[in-house]
Amino acid sequence: MDAYEPAAPRHVLILGGTTEARRLAAVLAERAPALRVTSSLAGRVAAPRLPAGEVRVGGFGGPEGLARWLREHAVDALIDATHPFAGTISSNAARAAATAHVPLLALRRPGWVPGEGDRWHPVGSLEEAAALLPSLGERIFLTTGRMGLAAFAHLTEPWFLVRSVDPPEAPHPPRMETLLARGPFTLDDERELLRRHRVDVLVTKDSGGTATAPKLTAAREAGIPVVIVRRPPPPPGVPVATDPDEAVAWLTGLAGEERT
Ligand code: NAP
Repeated sequence: MDAYEPAAPRHVLILGGTTEARRLAAVLAERAPALRVTSSLAGRVAAPRLPAGEVRVGGFGGPEGLARWLREHAVDALIDATHPFAGTISSNAARAAATAHVPLLALRRPGWVPGEGDRWHPVGSLEEAAALLPSLGERIFLTTGRMGLAAFAHLTEPWFLVRSVDPPEAPHPPRMETLLARGPFTLDDERELLRRHRVDVLVTKDSGGTATAPKLTAAREAGIPVVIVRRPPPPPGVPVATDPDEAVAWLTGLAGEERT
């Protein structure tokens, strides 16, 4: 991998909140110390893991606010490394980058692929997942995050084990136990969790990555069906990198373009 050596001081804004965003900030701090890197977090998690470099927290105020921030802080490259399901900020990033004439890259880890023995039920939304659940089981391990619990709130019969980083708020299903935890999770722990709580259905978003994948292996081994929410597509026309090294290569390419 080539080092990124900008001809002049530059400023990259990483829209973060993911493992990949933190990795990218760390890689840039190490390989391009002259580059100014700011990571932006939404502020949803009370005590987030902080990336290397500068960090700002909180919304920008829509695409116009983000475009203004890009201009006022002389950002010359924007990397949207938000979670694959954070659709609003990704579409805001595409609009703001076009308005402010700042090159934009999306950094998206690849989605998960089913293996032999998996019993996956892909769905398009949390609402579709909720509609399917009564036909699949009654002890449900819900790992889709605390923000979308309202979609399951009307399900009064099944019991839910909800795992999230911060405590969920109402509305949520009435029969619910909360497990506050932050990945990565081990296969042994996931096996034990499914067994101890007699889970018979797993619900997850197709987040991809390794940190939370062991639950899928544990479900496969136990023969448990998995309702998996498909990702929204990235905004059209935005180039996509699948790991931090590809993002560094994109930045290197931008520097080259400007020198020629
Ligand atoms: P979202 O629905 O796409 O975004 C809602 C609003 O939150 C945006 O319009 C923006 O506010 C603000 N925002 C989101 N990400 C931001 C960032 N990195 N920096 C500054 N403002 C941000 O997002 P979400 O699904 O609520 O996710 C919020 C954050 O949590 C994201 O950064 C994402 O990477 C992380 N995350 C999400 C999930 C998930 O499943 N959705 C899972 C893990 C982590 P303004 O319009 O005011 O700018």
